[in-house]
Amino acid sequence: MWDCLVIGGGPAGMTAGLYLARAGARAAVVERFAVGGQVLNTERIDNYPGFPEGILGYALAELMEKGLERFAMPRLSGEVREIEIGMPLRVRIDDALHETKTVIVSSGATWRKLGVPGEERLTGKGVSYCALCDGFFYKDKTIACIGGGDAALEESLYLQKLVRKIYLIHRRDAFRGMKVYQDKVLASPSIEVLWNTVVESIEGDTAVQAVTIRNVQTDARSRVDVDGVFIFVGNRPLADFLPSAVERDAGGFVVTDMEMRTTVPGIFAAGDVRSKTCRQVTTAVGDGAIAATSVLAYLENIHV
Ligand code: NAP
Repeated sequence: MWDCLVIGGGPAGMTAGLYLARAGARAAVVERFAVGGQVLNTERIDNYPGFPEGILGYALAELMEKGLERFAMPRLSGEVREIEIGMPLRVRIDDALHETKTVIVSSGATWRKLGVPGEERLTGKGVSYCALCDGFFYKDKTIACIGGGDAALEESLYLQKLVRKIYLIHRRDAFRGMKVYQDKVLASPSIEVLWNTVVESIEGDTAVQAVTIRNVQTDARSRVDVDGVFIFVGNRPLADFLPSAVERDAGGFVVTDMEMRTTVPGIFAAGDVRSKTCRQVTTAVGDGAIAATSVLAYLENIHV
């Protein structure tokens, strides 16, 4: 039986794993793809301390993984399908059941969809959610980016280095993202912000050709020719495997207390999957450390 299964190998999970391994707990990190999480989709991280010049996302993930290897942290490859509540907890990974005293849910979040006609059909044919993955295909082309948060601003700043022109389409008259990104976006000669504007549909037969947009103040509709559409309208948690007894917020994110305890004893959560305001690598790392410390305290007090 495991002391703890850490579900998800992003920065939160890797940090939790590191703490548990150093403490000698019988723990493993479960990951369905490569460890690193969304950091792998981020070009450069400028707000993680210790790297004064910034660091490439995959390079940071690689360094974190090396830290885990040093403590010989076991890794289980597979997808968590279900957690059965009990003492012990039973975690189904692919088709195998694993018994564990605790879990740390650090399965992260993924991009939300816009939900407009054409989006689903043209995904992979001009509709993308990942600048680092697909930006290269739009060299010297015209694209639309949708959203006004940190992701939309930061990814537009990355994409402007590749493409000819970006229409940054935001539904309000003010950005939600950080001021430091806002200033750079507004100063960019290749980014044109379309304020108070929503995308009603994405057009194209076999590839994206245009978006139909509507100004929410005037109700005026127009068609803008673009070769690609990058959608950055927020995240949704990756936690479909959790039992309903684990409380979620309105967006589906997992509610915890300050010790990363969920509403079910033995189930802890850390990182982007958690209900919180600041989703950064730094806060994920902090969550992971707190969750592992709470798990270790919990293990001291249970008898399975
Ligand atoms: P976010 O902060 O939730 O922003 C989502 C944006 O999309 C908002 O501007 C929102 O508009 C807009 N939006 C949502 N639904 C929409 C819809 N149906 N139609 C049109 N627009 C829609 O999400 P995010 O930018 O993905 O960031 C998620 C988290 O990761 C945040 O905590 C963020 O700070 C963090 N993050 C940090 C960095 C960094 O520090 N470098 C980079 C990326 C992400 P409204 O503003 O009107 O609500």
